[in-house]
Amino acid sequence: MNKFTLAPVSLALALALTGCNSSENKESKTAEPAAQVEKVMLANPFFAPWGTPHEIPDFAKIKNEHYIPAFDKAIKEQQQEIAAIIANVEAPTFANTIEAIEFSGNLLDSVAGVFYNLTSAETNDEMKAIAKKVSPMLSAHSDDISLNAELFKRVDAVYQQKSSLNLTTAQAKLLEDSYVGFVRSGAKLNEQQKEQIRKLNSQLSDLTLKFGDNLLAETNSFEIVIANKAKLAGLSQSVIEAAAATATERGQDGKWVFTTHRPSITPFTKYADDRELRKALYLGYTNRASNGNEFDNKKVLAEIASLRVQKAQLMGYKSHAHFVLEERVAKTPAAVYELLNKIWPTALAKAKVEVADMQKVVDSEGGNFKVAAWDYPYYAEKIRKARYDIDEEQTRPYFALESTLQGVFKTAQKLYGITVKERTDLPTYHDDVRTFEIYEADGTYIGLFLADHYVRPGKRGGAWMNSYRKQYNMNGTDSTPIIVNVLNYPRPTASEPALLTFDQASTLFHEFGHALHGLLSDGKYRSQTGTSTPRDFVEFPSQVMENWMLQPEVLAMFAKHYQTGEVIPQQLVDKIQAASKFNQGFATTEYMAATLLDLNWHSLEDAAIRDSEKFEQQALKEWGLIDEIDPRYRSTYFAHIFSGGYSAGYYSYIWSDVFGADAFAAFEENGIFDANTAKAFRTHILSAGGSENALSLYRKFRGKDASIEPLLRSRGLKD
Ligand SMILES: [Zn+2]
Repeated sequence: MNKFTLAPVSLALALALTGCNSSENKESKTAEPAAQVEKVMLANPFFAPWGTPHEIPDFAKIKNEHYIPAFDKAIKEQQQEIAAIIANVEAPTFANTIEAIEFSGNLLDSVAGVFYNLTSAETNDEMKAIAKKVSPMLSAHSDDISLNAELFKRVDAVYQQKSSLNLTTAQAKLLEDSYVGFVRSGAKLNEQQKEQIRKLNSQLSDLTLKFGDNLLAETNSFEIVIANKAKLAGLSQSVIEAAAATATERGQDGKWVFTTHRPSITPFTKYADDRELRKALYLGYTNRASNGNEFDNKKVLAEIASLRVQKAQLMGYKSHAHFVLEERVAKTPAAVYELLNKIWPTALAKAKVEVADMQKVVDSEGGNFKVAAWDYPYYAEKIRKARYDIDEEQTRPYFALESTLQGVFKTAQKLYGITVKERTDLPTYHDDVRTFEIYEADGTYIGLFLADHYVRPGKRGGAWMNSYRKQYNMNGTDSTPIIVNVLNYPRPTASEPALLTFDQASTLFHEFGHALHGLLSDGKYRSQTGTSTPRDFVEFPSQVMENWMLQPEVLAMFAKHYQTGEVIPQQLVDKIQAASKFNQGFATTEYMAATLLDLNWHSLEDAAIRDSEKFEQQALKEWGLIDEIDPRYRSTYFAHIFSGGYSAGYYSYIWSDVFGADAFAAFEENGIFDANTAKAFRTHILSAGGSENALSLYRKFRGKDASIEPLLRSRGLKD
């Protein structure tokens, strides 16, 4: 299940810290005659209030040609706002500097809010081309602000008086974040150091690109070709047909080709009876970019790790992980290792039990071998099928999309008193989109919730929450939120309404958990409201929300057979729940092994170039990983951390999962709809956003720190 938020956090933060002269896009201006530019400007719907109910963007009026001029003008506006802050003859104060920066860039926020939502949910080639053009404009604009020495001088002046300013908690955090943001961009470095950083950044950018290119080449080049049909035993007809199609594409007509791409390797290692072929494909996958050829990533990644240490130390940090984690809830590598240390032994012990179970099956079948890593998926699937065979077709009739959505709304109503009123007369960007007004129990309006449920071309895969407009309060003007959940569910057919699998229904609860974080937000500063929390915290309000769906009391409210109205039998629910805990020793261990690799690579405190293979083996040996399990990603194909943005951050999933499980335990202790617990969760978590240190907020809600026990129980790692 692909669950994540596409919170506009990074962009909003980047923009909040942005601005000055230099990046105006001359190209788009000289290309058009002045009169025409004038006409576009006048008609550009971004340049006036929408005039719609709740100021929802009037989507029908927005044309592709409006975006570039809108971004141009929005950037220029913020540049002027920043210039005015610098030119202020009064001494720097919290209001005339820190708040003024925070309140700048309104137009940019609104243009980017619409554009980046639609490039994910309803895109086309023209918009993709615009995105390519806008991206360097925005990063130059952002650099112009965060590297502006004069602006930093004022921020620093305010920061130096922080203890005498009598700031509220949110204000103090805004000041701290603003100051730290400048420092982390290099504001305190001298010219020579800044030059070094620029050089390191450019080397890193080349190497991370190379890492990704090598991995892609290696993933595309490996294949196994099967000519003998008997070798396909165990595979389903659809998998065999897909392999035949791949063979035809690759000029091997009449044969079957399997590759290391997920849709091909996953069913093969799970179902193919031929052990030697499973091994060949599995090793093809785990040896990617480690074959000693021109696409080998071992040296590339060791150099990336080395350059990252150099950069972190120039900035005054011990290691890259120290640099990254400063902005996260975890704060230090030691804190992450501490958490991993608590979970690892239990997960590993469980994995060993799973291996023993599999070995029993192997032995009973007369297989004369020891279970290996390429046997794990195959025997795990055999055991799963024997113990909990559940057919999805049995559960789907109980999870019609409409009744599940009503179940989500009713759950939120019972917890927070909010009510929902659908509007069919508001502008939308596609006919699929439904719009709901959200109200407090006393009738006070809260915000708009947009639901965009169905799969269609032009929408990227997965499920996410985002905001068109965040809640905030600027100079006394209250901005009410406009929040969207985007999913990729199948459409209703002529004979059936849209029916969801159990996982899809759970995703609807998950994403609405994010939506509540945005809707119930009650803060002052845009960079702190809603889901603007650290990455290792942001998933937790949504993970909590998934738990209600599993409660019999909640299922009885909505999980009714779409034809007969019968509530889903408890026996079926029990079976699904039991199955969800199956194989969690493996799942947790392979995930954590990858997390450990990430952390080990990025906790290095010197720039020596490591032997990648030795380094990896050493790390995993120290932690006692068993031979039957490989890390979810080995170093040479760990794209999240060597070419994506997750370096020193792969732990975040389990970190926020700890909060999620512990928070729901509070509801279990006090009653799943206990009014006081719900009120505390709303006040300290959902409404507070990132206005305060996340751990302090959690303590205010829970009265203590999160414990790992509920997580271990929820994964079936402990009774
Ligand atoms: Zn999520």
